[in-house]
Amino acid sequence: MEADRAQLLNQARRYLEDLRLFEGGEFIAPVLQQEEQGGDPAPALPSARDQAGELEAFRLQICECTRCPLGQTRQRFVFGDGDPGAGILFVGEGPGEEEDRQGLPFVGAAGQLLTKIIEAMKMQRSQVYICNAVKCRPPGNRTPAPEELAACAPYLERQIEIIQPRIICALGRTAAQALLQINSPLGALRGRLHQYRGIPVVVTYHPAALLRHAEWKRQTWEDVKWLRREYDGMEL
Ligand code: SF4
Repeated sequence: MEADRAQLLNQARRYLEDLRLFEGGEFIAPVLQQEEQGGDPAPALPSARDQAGELEAFRLQICECTRCPLGQTRQRFVFGDGDPGAGILFVGEGPGEEEDRQGLPFVGAAGQLLTKIIEAMKMQRSQVYICNAVKCRPPGNRTPAPEELAACAPYLERQIEIIQPRIICALGRTAAQALLQINSPLGALRGRLHQYRGIPVVVTYHPAALLRHAEWKRQTWEDVKWLRREYDGMEL
């Protein structure tokens, strides 16, 4: 029931997006929103500008966070980067050394590979949104502890609520487990379309793993081609 409702809301949102795009929707969207509010208690659908403002306000609200020990050892808080109204959201594990230095996600070697993957999907990095399961670097790039992932989970949840992506790509086991709240190994998570609160989730390898295991690139390519097909299939 909840999944059906989320699917209907997603369809309505895509419809509004297309109206904005093709019919000068700054005019028509508020009218449709009013109609929707009259019939269903669902919240108003945010415009892209609202999403940017909401995301920035949320970033400012949490950027000094010390809810878990990673807040004591980080150099920079790494919120996320990209289009606040993106249809595709990539979620990684946590910031690495370079990300911690710059305060931006996926800007090191793994980030460059992720950019190439996105471009191979015939998209620009600026068209998607990229963030991590934890916003502060685990010392020595260790895997975030379960308590750290749990402490940071509400932040990822809120980001997804604001961005409202059409599809999510979980990069690596940690990101997938954090999103889907299951303990399965990556091999069992890949190749299945999961759901996060009504949003489809595709799981693939983390780009950092591909730097160590080039032989996994072929499978990753299959995963992201599938992701792109699912995304294209959602267009009205
Ligand atoms: S990792 Fe998340 S919960 Fe921990 S200090 Fe950073 S922002 Fe806060």
